[in-house]
Amino acid sequence: MDYIYDDQNIFAKILRGEIPNTTVYENEHALAFKDINPAAPVHVLVIPKGAYVSLDHFARDASPAEQVGFLQAVAEVCRLSDVEEGFRAISNTRTHGVQDVPHYHMHIIGGKQLGRMMP
Ligand code: IMP
Repeated sequence: MDYIYDDQNIFAKILRGEIPNTTVYENEHALAFKDINPAAPVHVLVIPKGAYVSLDHFARDASPAEQVGFLQAVAEVCRLSDVEEGFRAISNTRTHGVQDVPHYHMHIIGGKQLGRMMP
C-alpha cells in the first residue's frame, strides 16, 4: 500500500508550532495533547512526530525507536491522567474507520464509565 502524507493536515501544523495545543506530554518521538472536542473527562491524542498517516503505516514503517517512543508517551499519558479505572484507546483509520485527520493518532479516552462500542 502507498501511504501519501499531506503535510498540511492539522496535526502536522501542531507539530510545527503553527497551531497551539494543550500538551500533556512530549518526548523525542511523540507528542500528546488534549482533544479540542473531548468525548469524556480524559481525551488525549498521542501522535508520532514522524510523517505517518495511520496506525498501519506507523506499524509498518516507523523505526523501533519511534514505536517505543510512541508507546512510552502512551504510558506517560496514562500515568498522568485519571484512568486508573480504565480507558479506551482508539485509532480510527481511513474512510471505513472514519479518520478525520490524516496524521496517525491514538485517542486515549476515559475518566468515566464508557459504554460498549462494537463495532
Ligand atoms: P479522528 O476522527 O480519529 O481523525 O479524530 C480527530 C480528532 O482530532 C477529533 O477528536 C478532533 O476533536 C481532534 N482535533 C481536531 N483538531 C484539533 C486541534 O486543533 N487540537 C486538538 N484536537 C483536535
